[in-house]
Amino acid sequence: TKKALIIGSGIAGIAAAIRLAVKGFDVEVFEGNSYPGGKLSEIQLGEYRFDAGPSLFTLPEQVDAVFQLAGKEPKEYFAYDKLDVTCQYFWEDGTSLKAYADLNRFAKEVQSKLGEAELSIHEALRQSAFIYNSLAPLFMNRSLHRFDTWTNPLALKSYLRMGKLGIFSTMNEANQKQFTHPKLIQLFNRYATYNGSNPYETPATLNIIPHLEFNIGAFFPKKGMHDITQSLFKLSEELGVNYHFGQKVERVLVEAGVAKGIRAKGEDHYADLVVNNMDMVNAYKTILKDQRQPKLLLKQAKSSSALIFYWGVKRDFPELDLHNIFFSDNYPLEFEHIFKRGTIYEDPTIYLNITSTHKNDDAPAGCMNWFTMINVPNNQGQDWDQMIAEAKRNIIHKLNRILKTDVESLIEVEEILDPRTIESKTSSAQGALYGNSSNNKFAAFLRHANYSSSIKNLYFCGGSVHPGGGIPLCLLSAKIMTEMVEG
Ligand code: FAD
Repeated sequence: TKKALIIGSGIAGIAAAIRLAVKGFDVEVFEGNSYPGGKLSEIQLGEYRFDAGPSLFTLPEQVDAVFQLAGKEPKEYFAYDKLDVTCQYFWEDGTSLKAYADLNRFAKEVQSKLGEAELSIHEALRQSAFIYNSLAPLFMNRSLHRFDTWTNPLALKSYLRMGKLGIFSTMNEANQKQFTHPKLIQLFNRYATYNGSNPYETPATLNIIPHLEFNIGAFFPKKGMHDITQSLFKLSEELGVNYHFGQKVERVLVEAGVAKGIRAKGEDHYADLVVNNMDMVNAYKTILKDQRQPKLLLKQAKSSSALIFYWGVKRDFPELDLHNIFFSDNYPLEFEHIFKRGTIYEDPTIYLNITSTHKNDDAPAGCMNWFTMINVPNNQGQDWDQMIAEAKRNIIHKLNRILKTDVESLIEVEEILDPRTIESKTSSAQGALYGNSSNNKFAAFLRHANYSSSIKNLYFCGGSVHPGGGIPLCLLSAKIMTEMVEG
């Protein structure tokens, strides 16, 4: 049997391991950390459990597909529920809004709270579905670096639809046309942050994202987000995948233009195939540093990062749900700080994710586990300690004002994740959450391919390569990559 070595056990690395094992490869994974999952892991603080990174789960069928590929019943490994309310939104002026999964109900809510015509919601989500149906088969499910992607009938169909896909305006411009109320424009502009981009720059094509949340649905794994990688990890071990934890790969071994294996802890390991799940920018700086560097791809602007306070809060807030947003009063200025100034705006939009609302044992009775996150610039060497202290004060004051409480006195335990620690824990360049940003219309073409054009038998998966960051796309990167490999 042929042997494959995988560098990194992020979600894409684990999915690639399963796919290659199913294809008949003998698979070994080398992971620098002592645990699998990369960004998709968990932390425990006293009696509080937190999902460490991703909190929003869309397109669960991409996870199911991996179990099905291995001939397993997904539900026996991994269970999840569809959310009735995808998100709650709060503003400083006392307005609040529930985004119901039921579109008619959401449209009515928007009409009654903001006076916006119900029809505008339906039309916006029809347009979102149109973009998805036009582009997903082309951009998400295939390599952009193979000729037949561009000549097949699906591609030809989307060329004809080009004018309607939002390529030539920004997300904000399109939302200003679709909606009249500034709060609704802000709500829909927020979807740019789902891949770490700026709504005032990113093409309106990214209005594809609300389709996932509203038309298909947002989900929550019964055992928490961490179970996505845990359950896949379990399956991979059952299929015979062998993991080496605490083994940071130092180098890809290349001989005469062919990948021959890897070096970890000074020891060489040989294989027929090498798959890299590590962030590409850092990979070219370390494990591929002697190889030809794709300079244009590597210098692309990275997505935004995040500052997260994991807080154990000793009180229940019945008005809060799984996903809660407390909007900034000046959204354009907030993004100017993140993407232009490299700083944090004093009135940031706060995302509060509380899994104990859906999974009771994540916090003691009468308490809540608050994953409190703001979007921040990626790491460019700023004075983070000072910025974090200031942001914490601003976040607490804002939550105090809107929730009419004293948050600080309720915090029992705290841990902080910032762009520096995101990079040190997962090797993500500059602590970016989603690889490259999508702030220009060529971004999709400026991600690294799923294979090396100069080194034979070297393949790539994960959030920094095609088709991009986020759980569903990372899973697709593993699929696209494995389909290129000859069995
Ligand atoms: P990563 O998770 O980046 O893992 C890479 C792995 O490779 C790590 O385990 C690392 O230790 C290992 N590694 C690196 N270098 C080496 C080496 N030299 N040798 C051995 N091992 C190495 N996505 C969503 O879909 N929804 C969300 O709500 C969401 N929110 C997010 C919030 C936060 C705070 C963060 C950080 C991310 C979020 N994302 C979200 C993005 C999502 O987490 C990522 O896109 C995805 O998890 C990346 O997976 P990956 O396969 O690229 O690998």
